[in-house]
Amino acid sequence: MWDFETDPQYQELLDWADDFVTNEVEPLDLIWPHLQFTPLNDTRRKVVDPLKEQVRQRGLWATHLGPEYGGQGYGQLKLALLNEILGRSQWAPIVFGCQAPDTGNAEIIAHYGTPEQKVRYLRPLLDGELFSSYSMTEPQGGADPTQFKTSAVRDGDDWVINGWKYFSSNASTAAFLIVMVVTNPDVSPYQGMSMFLLPTDTPGVEIVRNAGLYGEQEGEGSHALIHYDNVRVPDSALLGGEGQAFVIAQTRLGGGRIHHAMRTIGLAQKALDMMCERALSRETAGSLLSDKQIVQGYIADSYAQLKQFRLLVLYTAWEIDKFDDYKKVRKDIATVKVVMPTVLHDIAWRAMQVHGALGVTNEMPFLGMVTGAAVMGLADGPTEVHKTTVARQVLRNYEASEDVWPTEWIPRKRDAARAKYAEHLELEVGNQ
Ligand SMILES: Cc1cc2nc3c(=O)[nH]c(=O)nc-3n(C[C@H](O)[C@H](O)[C@H](O)COP(=O)(O)OP(=O)(O)OC[C@H]3O[C@@H](n4cnc5c(N)ncnc54)[C@H](O)[C@@H]3O)c2cc1C
Repeated sequence: MWDFETDPQYQELLDWADDFVTNEVEPLDLIWPHLQFTPLNDTRRKVVDPLKEQVRQRGLWATHLGPEYGGQGYGQLKLALLNEILGRSQWAPIVFGCQAPDTGNAEIIAHYGTPEQKVRYLRPLLDGELFSSYSMTEPQGGADPTQFKTSAVRDGDDWVINGWKYFSSNASTAAFLIVMVVTNPDVSPYQGMSMFLLPTDTPGVEIVRNAGLYGEQEGEGSHALIHYDNVRVPDSALLGGEGQAFVIAQTRLGGGRIHHAMRTIGLAQKALDMMCERALSRETAGSLLSDKQIVQGYIADSYAQLKQFRLLVLYTAWEIDKFDDYKKVRKDIATVKVVMPTVLHDIAWRAMQVHGALGVTNEMPFLGMVTGAAVMGLADGPTEVHKTTVARQVLRNYEASEDVWPTEWIPRKRDAARAKYAEHLELEVGNQ
């Protein structure tokens, strides 16, 4: 059965969320920009905690998680419909308990964590009381995890971690890190890497500096270069067992990628809304911008791109709920990841252009969106690598042709068709 309708009860909640984000949460982006991952001070707590409480009362807190973790078990499709509202605002995912990278991190602790790890890390993470950081990329290369060198070596009952990690987002405000390291260099990296959970203040964890994205002050960014210098952790810090890092990473990144895509729908919609308002408001050379065919082309192309992308994201979210196995949905998650930067870039760029000089100023959000599109082409792996995944998965359903001629070579197919209907063809000739 195909059904493109949202159930009316959930739609009511979405309508509430839409108003709530516009009126209560988006203002936080203006008064406390870029502070959403900084632990709350007294002033911010007075505002943010009651907002979180309203979300909880509506049953929209961390909706994708099961009740055992404080969510509603709504799954990914419903999260997608919510996330496309939250994607407009930096603060909204925090207020609704579903912000990256914490969602993905929570998901793997829920999946692979021991009961102790769940009490220590998962519960406060889900309560929104602390932040987490995923520490995988290294300075010499991120796209190819087989290049990673950071290692953990057994020493008695402990492990000792040494190496460098780069772009560990939010590490400087996170209470704990999930770090991916080589634990057995003698086997293939796919079996020789493991993940550890450790508090950020563990001795030997040194945040050397934080990279910022374009537009942020140098030194004030949130993507850490970390030196793990003889960091000693107990065996109980292992997440999901030795050699399991690649399996866990697939769970972690599969969820993360689709969540980014859900929020990107919201951001691209915001850009399209702004483009339309401007086109209807600005008059030049004798008519409104909305009457110019090229501007109409921008609007039509943007609407079409966004509509296709949204359907793909919702369909993929539905597949995740249906199969409950990211591996089975790998092709479509990678496809979403490939398409996402272009959709956001194109729509934001056109909206910026339609705003003229104002569009490129820091009084409008467009260049931030364009930078966001570039980020989407790198974070959780570069577009090129995901294209390779898509192509490999697509090719699995095909075989080489049986000889030098393609299967669809018309002369051979025509001969076969003639042979199949020879009897009728002879009659046809005879009747002429
Ligand atoms: C905003 C942001 C947040 C991030 N957060 C985190 C985080 O929290 N934790 C974390 O561990 N990492 C994080 N990353 C890092 C991210 O995962 C890496 O940037 C990404 O995997 C690419 O690695 P790299 O930057 O080392 O680029 P490289 O691996 O050096 O690749 C550079 C370029 O080479 C090309 N390329 C690479 N491989 C191939 C290929 N197989 N085929 C064709 N072309 C290829 C692509 O054009 C690619 O962009 C974040 C990145 C960004 C931008």
